[in-house]
Amino acid sequence: MSSLSALSGINRRKFLLGGAAAMAAVAGLGAIPARAEQSNAKIVITGAGAAGISIANRLAKALPNANITIIDRRETHYYWPGLTLVATGAWAKSKVLDRNASFMPSRVNWIKEMADVYEPDNKRVITDTGRVVEYDFLVVASGVEYNYDAIEGMDVNAIGQNGLASVYNSPDAAAKTWDAIRKYSVDGGNGIFTLPSTPIRCAGAPLKMTLLTLDRLQQNGGADKAQMSFYSALNGVFGLPWYNDFLLNRFAEHDMDVKFRHELSAVDIGARKATFTQEDGNQFTTEYDLLHVVPPMRAPRSVRESNLAWTEGNMAAGGWLAVDRDTLQHLTYPEVFGCGDVNGTPRGKTAATVKMSVPIVVQNLISVIAGEEPEATFDGYTSCPLLTRFGAAMLIEFDYDGNLTPTYSFIDPKKESWFAWIMKDQMLKPTYLQMLKGNV
Ligand SMILES: Cc1cc2nc3c(=O)[nH]c(=O)nc-3n(C[C@H](O)[C@H](O)[C@H](O)COP(=O)(O)OP(=O)(O)OC[C@H]3O[C@@H](n4cnc5c(N)ncnc54)[C@H](O)[C@@H]3O)c2cc1C
Repeated sequence: MSSLSALSGINRRKFLLGGAAAMAAVAGLGAIPARAEQSNAKIVITGAGAAGISIANRLAKALPNANITIIDRRETHYYWPGLTLVATGAWAKSKVLDRNASFMPSRVNWIKEMADVYEPDNKRVITDTGRVVEYDFLVVASGVEYNYDAIEGMDVNAIGQNGLASVYNSPDAAAKTWDAIRKYSVDGGNGIFTLPSTPIRCAGAPLKMTLLTLDRLQQNGGADKAQMSFYSALNGVFGLPWYNDFLLNRFAEHDMDVKFRHELSAVDIGARKATFTQEDGNQFTTEYDLLHVVPPMRAPRSVRESNLAWTEGNMAAGGWLAVDRDTLQHLTYPEVFGCGDVNGTPRGKTAATVKMSVPIVVQNLISVIAGEEPEATFDGYTSCPLLTRFGAAMLIEFDYDGNLTPTYSFIDPKKESWFAWIMKDQMLKPTYLQMLKGNV
């Protein structure tokens, strides 16, 4: 194993610190094999989000002769982790919007189209305009697809009206979600929060939305008139048992009704009725004054329908990218890597996961370009600042196996703290922007 294989552990510790200390870890990329450094390999990245832009910046710095192309039509950068704060009235929408051009390395060729067809046997990607883009190496970083269509009657354009809320769809939807939650926090009524059965990005977000809405009800006078419910399509609300129990206790303190194995399957927006399908197929319809919808998620269609997707196991249904969970190299095509939410790996799907896995992907890609084996390994680092109320949070960090992996010895990951809130509110975005630039 190369000396760089220890990067995952080192960088994890540096994640929230940023700055010069983290630069030293990145400097590990200084030991670039000459064969890779001199290579004029054609590298294509699909997706210019958190993972894609970070990788483009690191590769542009590390491989001066490589021919790097990134494919993504989206020009506005979304700082997704800020959406929960927009949707609960703590941040303005403008705070989560940026321009991808501000972060794009100048020597990278940016094709403002979408990857439509992957042809890994021919080492090429065809875009939605029919352009054929050939590659020697490919990094798939196209995130997730929100499958709102799986919920009959759901219309993302109606978010914000008639008590319909959903933080996930876009910054605009998050702002409109705040309109709905603000009204509910005054008026009260029957508030329903959902969790689908698919893997989702930021598994803490549906819970943050619930807990912060409870806090808004207290602040805005609606608490005594409100009955809140949480409908999970799983048999819990969070994947780590201690936090699952904590959350269920917190919900019980607020007399919340919690249901398991209930998947939101239909919504009648005009009549404010939500229908849930239970595990046995039975359906159950209830009225609401506020419905917070978390859509089922899957890999983008172009990945799902390609030879790059899992074809068996629990990642096959969502068509997630079939990568090795340690090296993040594709299991069938060694010149292909995956990074970010699109990866069919356990847990993850957070920006913190992106932060920790980008150096692994870049290092392993460089090894493969140099004709070596990829040896850097990722531990599955996932981080969720669980916002429990305004001014308090718990910083939950864990690996693939669900082991807690706290960065700071002085923060108890099982205690709510003001510091963890400040991190989410003020420190994580600057670190994220440095990550995009490939600096940390
Ligand atoms: C509400 C919410 C709250 C969150 N909170 C946190 C948090 O507190 N902490 C945290 O660490 N993480 C959080 N996350 C998760 C975090 O934002 C994601 O894990 C992270 O953005 C994933 O990065 P990505 O590059 O994989 O995806 P993205 O950043 O979404 O980028 C994917 C890119 O791929 C592009 N794309 C899609 N399809 C194609 C195609 N066919 N061809 C080309 N390009 C394509 C898209 O246009 C997009 O630009 C949150 C997410 C949400 C939605």
